[in-house]
Amino acid sequence: MSTWFDLDPVLPDVWRLNDGDLDTCYVLRGSERTGVIDTGMGIGDVAAQVARVSSAPPLVINTHVHPDHVSGNYQFEEAAIGAIEWECAQAWLRAMPTPTATEGDGPSPLDLMRPKRALPAEFDPKTYRPYRMHEPTRLLHEGDTIHLGGFDLEVIVVPAHTRGSICLLDRQRRTLFTGDTVLRGTVWLHLDQSAPPHTAVATYAKLAALAADVDHVLPAHGTAVLPGSFLQALAEGTAAVAEGRIAGAPMSTFAGDGTYYDLGGYGLLFAQPVEEW
Ligand SMILES: [Zn+2]
Repeated sequence: MSTWFDLDPVLPDVWRLNDGDLDTCYVLRGSERTGVIDTGMGIGDVAAQVARVSSAPPLVINTHVHPDHVSGNYQFEEAAIGAIEWECAQAWLRAMPTPTATEGDGPSPLDLMRPKRALPAEFDPKTYRPYRMHEPTRLLHEGDTIHLGGFDLEVIVVPAHTRGSICLLDRQRRTLFTGDTVLRGTVWLHLDQSAPPHTAVATYAKLAALAADVDHVLPAHGTAVLPGSFLQALAEGTAAVAEGRIAGAPMSTFAGDGTYYDLGGYGLLFAQPVEEW
């Protein structure tokens, strides 16, 4: 039995799949389809974990195209991805040397993210291929709805962490799946793939407008279920940064340096200080 994954119920018919403490996927037990929101690093048998929840055919829905969220896609037949995200990803997916953990093409996501848990016994670093994903079978646009049977997931395009990231809103269940766009940690907005800062500010204002409709915010890292009010707090914090009311500090990451704005135990990392936006 793999100890790489934790599969835990978090809400009715919703399971959280902790992928080796590196990222968080969600498995939704729809009556017609099993929703799989992101597939993680692809170094374990994600499909077997999903099958523990339901035998209804799985449908992957990716919040965005980063290796810690899409690299298990190859284990599934069908995947839906934001149309803008897929278009933006083409250039840099093509440029990727598809590095493995052992070739000299540069560090693989596995080297960069340094898992603390023991890798699954069946995992072979020599054949590891991050970004191993098929062409998406469906491209998603703002306002599209994905029906799983008992779940109706509305697509909200949220340019910030990446230009084409999406959130998924189930109004009936008052639940929002946010990918890396909303989390209680350091929100990475400093990447080459990130949206311009003023676009990100507008995105957080757009999400805050949903706060009254949401009780459960489910991010793609960590194990916290955040309240809807967090959307409001994040938008207010972002606006305060944009207005120059919060002091920034330099921060380095494996994906580049930036200026970090602390909002009280969590915060935003932009490529440039606000004076240079
Ligand atoms: Zn990401």
